[in-house]
Amino acid sequence: MTSHAKLSPSSAHRWMQCAGSLILEKDIPDSSSEHAAQGTAAHFLASECLEQGKDATDFLNCFIGIKKGNAYWLDTAFDDNQSRFNVDLEMSENIQIYLDAVRSQAVGNELLVEQRVDFSSYIGAENAFGTSDVIILTDDEIQVHDLKYGRGVKVYAENNEQLKLYALGALNNFGAFGDFKQVRQVIHQPRLNHYSEAVCTVDELLEFARESKNQVQYIRCLEEGLETGDGGAIADFGGSFNPGEKQCQWCKAKATCPALAEHILKTVAGEFEDLDAVDLNAQINTATGEVTNLENDRLSKFFSAIPLIEGWIKAVSGLVHNKLHQGESVPGYKIVQGKQGNRAWENAEEAEQMLKSMRLKTDQMYDLKLISPTTAEKLKKENVIGVRQWTKVENLITRADGKPTVVPESDKRPALIVNPENDFNNLDA
Ligand code: SF4
Repeated sequence: MTSHAKLSPSSAHRWMQCAGSLILEKDIPDSSSEHAAQGTAAHFLASECLEQGKDATDFLNCFIGIKKGNAYWLDTAFDDNQSRFNVDLEMSENIQIYLDAVRSQAVGNELLVEQRVDFSSYIGAENAFGTSDVIILTDDEIQVHDLKYGRGVKVYAENNEQLKLYALGALNNFGAFGDFKQVRQVIHQPRLNHYSEAVCTVDELLEFARESKNQVQYIRCLEEGLETGDGGAIADFGGSFNPGEKQCQWCKAKATCPALAEHILKTVAGEFEDLDAVDLNAQINTATGEVTNLENDRLSKFFSAIPLIEGWIKAVSGLVHNKLHQGESVPGYKIVQGKQGNRAWENAEEAEQMLKSMRLKTDQMYDLKLISPTTAEKLKKENVIGVRQWTKVENLITRADGKPTVVPESDKRPALIVNPENDFNNLDA
């Protein structure tokens, strides 16, 4: 019997856009990272606050341990096999922003924290579930709130497949408890000062469920056909990939995915038949040389492919490093000792005593530097700098204008008027 790949909500955009990804990623283990562990710690703090009716500062300077993806409070016990996070001022302030936003919506309504919701029946797959950070039930609305603690890219609630799956799960679990007409989906990214919400009707949500069901059926047919060696499924498999910046960004198969490699090579080097027959260096050199002769629309196509290409390069580089470090052989490459690091005192105290004994003056011995406005603001938060004093300090802070930056036309900021002779002007000014 086929063991089906897990239809996780967090990767829903990927498997909705690229059916083959679920099959290609299936046996690749998740990689753990410090960022992911920090996110788990922040979610834990948020849920503890909501469940206990506390503020984030109530846990200031407490420690959260993360082991095998699970978070828990640490007292003094600490072993090397776990990540450890301090609830510092930055984490408590950011989580408080999220708590305040959630609580303002929950007044007079039902607040449900860390709810496991099951959307299997809506998408026609067994064991399809996820855990929603917060669900709020009003008289006629279901709300799903999702906390993103990363500082990476902004995530939007509009057409967000992950939130829609949570919403379907919430409808499945709680639909019988009210006459719900619409679903509000909310993303909170306090560290990016970003909040995004989208509302759809229950009928629109059910339309999404139908699309998901079709995609899931297609994926399951592919999976089963590939396992049984069905010729039709094998022929279809190549066409089941759909490379694109958003879906490929976090794909575990990115470094080895032939469809992505082919897509990138086609973008930079034009059409070709056989990927293995391509001299990548030559093609890219030719393409780079041609850039000066390109029409602007082709240049635009190249430019828009940069994030995808950069992500692919990073993934390929990471995988080659990993394989070589694990003793595998990658033809044409080896590991050597890199450049030495910067010089450092082996024993800073000993060096300090030695330099003092040589009668060096303080300004000769130490690098003294004025604190930054950011550090000064931290001192204000710690009440080292008083509120009135801060007003005076704030008057001394200035910020340089941002440098002109190229962004997609969909970006909300107004375009600058370009005056090549002189400077840039704001179109709205
Ligand atoms: S890298 Fe992109 S194209 Fe390849 S499987 Fe992943 S999402 Fe699909």
